[in-house]
Amino acid sequence: MRIFNENEIVGGLGELEEIYKVEPIGVKYTCDKCGEGEMLSTGKNNWSANPPQFEHVCSICNHKDYFFEKYPLVRFRTVQM
Ligand SMILES: [Zn+2]
Repeated sequence: MRIFNENEIVGGLGELEEIYKVEPIGVKYTCDKCGEGEMLSTGKNNWSANPPQFEHVCSICNHKDYFFEKYPLVRFRTVQM
């Protein structure tokens, strides 16, 4: 695996900034009603809530719920360099 150096970072690095390698991982949300379906974003959002909430529906039982994030989503985890 190639390890990049600081000169290759777009925008450069500040004195106290340091780099670390990450990899993306997908995160999905299991329905808390049937325990089997996956909660999927319907695209309908409640913008009047603060913070806004995203409507989701279960892929199996149609249970509806609102979350602060849109699932499935991508997070990053640190990889040892
Ligand atoms: Zn369900």
